[in-house]
Amino acid sequence: MISTVRTKSGKNRKRRILAGIAVLLVVAALLVVPKWKVAINNGGQLPRQPFRIAGNLYYVGSRDVTCFLLTGPEGHVLIDGGYPGTAPMILKNIATLGFRITDVKILLNSHAHFDHAGGLAALQQASGAQLWVSEADAAMISSGGISYRNMAPVNWLIYSGLMRYPAPQIDHQFKDGAQISLGPIRLTAHVTAGHTPGCTTWAFPVQDGKRELLAVSIGSLSLPMPTSLFNWKYDATLRHELERSFVTLRSLPADIYLSSHARPFSLKRKFEERTAAKDPVTPFIDRKGYLEDIKKAEAQFCKTLEEQQ
Ligand SMILES: [Zn+2]
Repeated sequence: MISTVRTKSGKNRKRRILAGIAVLLVVAALLVVPKWKVAINNGGQLPRQPFRIAGNLYYVGSRDVTCFLLTGPEGHVLIDGGYPGTAPMILKNIATLGFRITDVKILLNSHAHFDHAGGLAALQQASGAQLWVSEADAAMISSGGISYRNMAPVNWLIYSGLMRYPAPQIDHQFKDGAQISLGPIRLTAHVTAGHTPGCTTWAFPVQDGKRELLAVSIGSLSLPMPTSLFNWKYDATLRHELERSFVTLRSLPADIYLSSHARPFSLKRKFEERTAAKDPVTPFIDRKGYLEDIKKAEAQFCKTLEEQQ
């Protein structure tokens, strides 16, 4: 009888300890998750001073995740939305340069990931601009980042709301090679798929004084993760997309090299060189760097394929 009472009280103590641990875990989650969400929401991005790259092309992004403003007499074009949490930085940068967000009439995107499409909804709301996205990324953007091409754990994070971004309204969808114009501004959409199915490289001429320079902003040269946790091989679709994208990128006669992240095209170094240069545009004219980075990414792709054999 005594031993039964002891066993019962022992079981109760165990239950109380487990319940205590569960309560602590819930409290910790309630305290940590909001902070984690805030940190994820801006990806640790710090502000960067906005500046003119060349002619009517301005940098208005954060330290690493880029955003470009193309100004024109009939309205402006904004390329990329950054993280959900960096939209206020972009708005501030545009205002610092003396431009009005309500003059932004067209909103574009490099690809549907959280760090480039996350701020589109806020920027669209502030500007009233029309959003153009590539057909192949449209479903991902309108779902706030969910894609059949994401590996399962990534989609779980998105479903949980931790990495889901506010979905903007898609006004127009385009295919590879589409031309988008606003007054004298002309952009060509090159769908360089792989990183996402509709990853887009934007090419546009910039009139800088008497010279015309072709700016090319690469959607992304980062190789995608395999789509399955259990099969780390790229399928035939992904391989063909990437092979085709390298051919497209090499064929573009880029003068000004840009991309969806600042590090690949050395924005920080070029910004510093710009202040000392006689012609502040010169550091950004970098066809050599553009071709070298494509070559490096292609070599990495070949190595990955070999490793997957
Ligand atoms: Zn990405």
